[in-house]
Amino acid sequence: MALKVRVMASQERVRAGVMPGLLYRAEAYEEADRFRERKWECSHNHRSVEDAFNCGVTWLNEQSDGPVEESA
Ligand SMILES: [Zn+2]
Repeated sequence: MALKVRVMASQERVRAGVMPGLLYRAEAYEEADRFRERKWECSHNHRSVEDAFNCGVTWLNEQSDGPVEESA
């Protein structure tokens, strides 16, 4: 079983007079799962895709499930 990391974007809550930005969260899914069901999601609101992706990769490495393949 190989887990992969992906990044999901969501819209920040709109506040008066402020343009909403995008927030990013890391998710992990099983590579062999054709539905790519979410197995894990980080609990942060990352401001950039890179931050979120690195967060996911760090989590994956902590799962000690053998070497992790990185993909964007
Ligand atoms: Zn995170």
